[in-house]
Amino acid sequence: MLILISDAFDATLPQLLAKYGDVTDDKSRAAEAEVVLIRSKTKVTKEYIDSAPNLKLVIRGGVGLDNVDQVYAKSKGIEVHNTADASTTAVAELAFSMMIALPNHTAKADQSMREGKWLKKELKRTELHGKTLGIVGMGRIGTALAVRARAFRMRILAWHPDVYFSDFAEIRSTLKEVMQESDYLSIHVPLLDETRGMINKETLANCKKGAYIINTGRSGCVNEEDVAQALKDGHLGGYATDVWLSDPPDGSPLFDAPNTLFSPHIGASTKENMTRIGEVADKIIFEYVNR
Ligand code: NAD
Repeated sequence: MLILISDAFDATLPQLLAKYGDVTDDKSRAAEAEVVLIRSKTKVTKEYIDSAPNLKLVIRGGVGLDNVDQVYAKSKGIEVHNTADASTTAVAELAFSMMIALPNHTAKADQSMREGKWLKKELKRTELHGKTLGIVGMGRIGTALAVRARAFRMRILAWHPDVYFSDFAEIRSTLKEVMQESDYLSIHVPLLDETRGMINKETLANCKKGAYIINTGRSGCVNEEDVAQALKDGHLGGYATDVWLSDPPDGSPLFDAPNTLFSPHIGASTKENMTRIGEVADKIIFEYVNR
């Protein structure tokens, strides 16, 4: 059995998986591979699947499966798994760090000091304490963020299509209600037809003036043009994103918008998570070969 590690995983993974067969990171051998491990870079499209006749198992290290044609894979008898639980802490901590960094001007303070500026009067901070956080998608990461926000004495609201009660947030029946009441909005829904572009000119009009949005979910859930305009108009107080329309982005209207904070899709990229992802992948392959 050939296992292809197609994207970046923990350096110890080839050794861990060697007990199941040959392990390679040579993408040109995709046609021979029975198991392919991907993260977000490799796109398992219809064409990819058609060019890999031996493929039986795809493991996505991480959560979002929007880079896999799951319907076509199923039609070809290919199993698709993610390592869903592994990334929760890593992404929640990044979302929380962005939520702290925006109102504290952490990046600008650092940058201005390096430029020899002393912005003591200009950099007005605000506190998270007592502010309202709206969570869009109260799943694993949304809930983990709520737990952290509670410790900072934030009030937590959430909207979710089929969650009506949570120990960690007041559930509102519409996204509009959450947006109207939130000082911070954090996005944790998967990219689906129903969530694509859900944060746009019309829905942004529901936000409180000066609200902050943090996106560690998927870029496609947000209309970047509309967010950039809302930042320029001063309607939004800030926007932080880890996620992009492509990795890396081919430009973005956000790059010349004010009060932004960016990271290069590193939500899942903690040392601890890479170890957990490897352990889960190992279990999935173990179950596959021992059926
Ligand atoms: P999850 O499945 O536990 O939570 C997502 C929640 O969104 C679910 O509870 C789901 O019911 C809800 N949801 C589904 N459809 C919805 C809809 N139409 N409207 C509103 N809510 C809807 O997933 P998770 O582990 O919390 O991850 C959430 C997302 O975070 C992933 O789908 C992925 O896109 C993103 N993510 C990003 C990174 C990163 O590196 N930045 C890493 C991991 C995950």
